[in-house]
Amino acid sequence: MTTTFNTPSTISAGLRCHCPRCGEGKLFAGFLTLAKRCDRCGLDFSFADPADGPAFFVMSAVGILVVGVWAWSVVVFQPPMWLQFATVFPALIGSCLAALRPMKAWLVAEQFVHKAGEGEWASLGKHGEGGFVYDRRKASGG
Ligand SMILES: [Zn+2]
Repeated sequence: MTTTFNTPSTISAGLRCHCPRCGEGKLFAGFLTLAKRCDRCGLDFSFADPADGPAFFVMSAVGILVVGVWAWSVVVFQPPMWLQFATVFPALIGSCLAALRPMKAWLVAEQFVHKAGEGEWASLGKHGEGGFVYDRRKASGG
């Protein structure tokens, strides 16, 4: 049976936190816990493991943005210290929490599209021949 899917762009699947194959099913079962499989098309999400990726990207992006705005506002408005504490920490925490889900969903979608996985070693031929970079047996058309 061949089924065609209206596969969304990775950005679209990420922003909506939907399945990267059909763009319909929900990707998450919890706040950041992935569902076992898509509830619409049945895609198994076990391939998806962005690990620390979302946290790293969100931390970097939010940090640069919020600190940039903070620095600018301090120079321009010279707000009192209590106001800086009252706004900057909630902004940092809130932005991180808001961005984590779409960021993770986007990375999962990128993994799905590019079929990213663990690196695999293949030993071919003698020392100095073949190797894991290039498989000559496949290239010779056998
Ligand atoms: Zn799906």
